[in-house]
Amino acid sequence: MIIRPRIVYIVRLGEVESSHLTVISESLQEHFGLEAKIIEDRTILPSALDAARKQYNSNLILKKLLDILPADALKILGVTDFDLFSPIFSYVFGEAQFGGKCAVISTFRLRGHPDGKILQGCPPLVSRIEKEAIHELGHTFGLRHCADPDCVMHYSVGVQCADRKFAFFCPACREMMVWHMATDLFLKI
Ligand SMILES: [Zn+2]
Ligand SMILES: [Zn+2]
Repeated sequence: MIIRPRIVYIVRLGEVESSHLTVISESLQEHFGLEAKIIEDRTILPSALDAARKQYNSNLILKKLLDILPADALKILGVTDFDLFSPIFSYVFGEAQFGGKCAVISTFRLRGHPDGKILQGCPPLVSRIEKEAIHELGHTFGLRHCADPDCVMHYSVGVQCADRKFAFFCPACREMMVWHMATDLFLKI
C-alpha cells in the first residue's frame, strides 16, 4: 500500500508550552491546508547537547529527526525551548534541511533576552514562533531567503527583524510555495 506523505509532524523536544505548538499547528492548517500532528520525543534533545557550550547542536537534531520520521510525514518540525547552535553560528533561531523533510526551531532567543527569559513589554512570543516555524518549513519546501523585509522568508538578523516581517509569504514566495507544495504532496509518493 502506498502511503501519501501529507502530515506535518510537530515534535515537542523537552518542555515546550502546549499553546506554542498549537499555534504552529493551527497556522499550518489555516494558511497551507496542511494536516499537522503534535508528537513528543525525549531522547533527541539530550543526545544533541554540547556540554561545553551549554547549547544544543541543531545539525544533530535534524539528523535525529530523520531517524524518527513517520512513514506518512510530509515534513517534521522539532520545537524546543533550549538554545540551539550550528557549527558556523554561535546561535540559531532554527535550521532546516533545504528541500528536505526536517526542520527545528528554538523559542530561546525569540524570547528577547540572551538568557532566554521573557522581557517585559516584549512583542508576543507566539507571533515570533509562528513566523520562525513557517520560515524554516519554507526552506524544507525549497524556498530561499527573500529580499522583501515584509516576507516571512526574509532572513532575520535579530528579533527586531523577526518582528518587522509578517507570518506570510510575499507574492513571489507564495507562488513558489504553492508550486513546491503541489510537487511534494502529489508527485513524491
Ligand atoms: Zn532562513
Ligand atoms: Zn518573499
